[in-house]
Amino acid sequence: MNKIKVTIWNEFRHEKQMEEVRKIYPEGIHGAIAQGIAADDLEIRLAALDDPEQGLPDEVIASTDVLIWWGHCAHGEVRDELVAKVLKRVQEGMGLIVLHSGHASKIFKAVTGCSGALKWREAEEKERLWNIAPTHPITQGIDEYFELPHEEMYGERFDIPKTAETIFISWFEGGNVFRSGFTLERGYGKFFYFQPGHETYRNFYDKNVLKVIGNAVRWAKPVFLREMAFPMVPALEEIRSTGFGAPKAGIIQNIDGSNK
Ligand code: ZN
Repeated sequence: MNKIKVTIWNEFRHEKQMEEVRKIYPEGIHGAIAQGIAADDLEIRLAALDDPEQGLPDEVIASTDVLIWWGHCAHGEVRDELVAKVLKRVQEGMGLIVLHSGHASKIFKAVTGCSGALKWREAEEKERLWNIAPTHPITQGIDEYFELPHEEMYGERFDIPKTAETIFISWFEGGNVFRSGFTLERGYGKFFYFQPGHETYRNFYDKNVLKVIGNAVRWAKPVFLREMAFPMVPALEEIRSTGFGAPKAGIIQNIDGSNK
């Protein structure tokens, strides 16, 4: 069995700098996700912003089937060249899953072409995530809805492409709603954004959140990996119309304008 090569990239700053976050995620958010989704069909690597080459040297990008991304306070430190490489690899077929505050990351903006702007509030409120795509591979094993006792509120309007397919819609105790899970396709690659995962709550231990992420990894794995190309190609048939005046469909026009 070919295992799916998953790289979990984490900014990994809050866990080092804030005691309350370290207590919840002593191995880092990426470590918790890795443990939570571990399975025989996955080969998981961890990467962090402060690792050499910001955690994603070329050979890691080239050997990743699905990249998971969590970032928050240091989006601006991620080098533009790295973002361009990741975007190119997504277009070539690599899956990308962006979590929570990654909505403001450079890679989210590059892949979606949108700002990712939204409303937010940190008030320990309850979130109810409605599964509105029950036949989608990402929601298999997920009920009609599930709840998280505490999560940061992210609210509409969320600036994402109109072509996004919505998978989850969330309701928050304070009254806001949010498209908390959506997919896109870019080139040959698949993209999923999923909202839960604020650093001071325990939601990367939640069985439903982990189930969704694990399902998303399998959904987003490449069908194939292939460079995007811009080939000039020979015609498949003899082209008999030349010069000015485009021929009408189905009519072969001679060079003098007469039809044969
Ligand atoms: Zn947050």
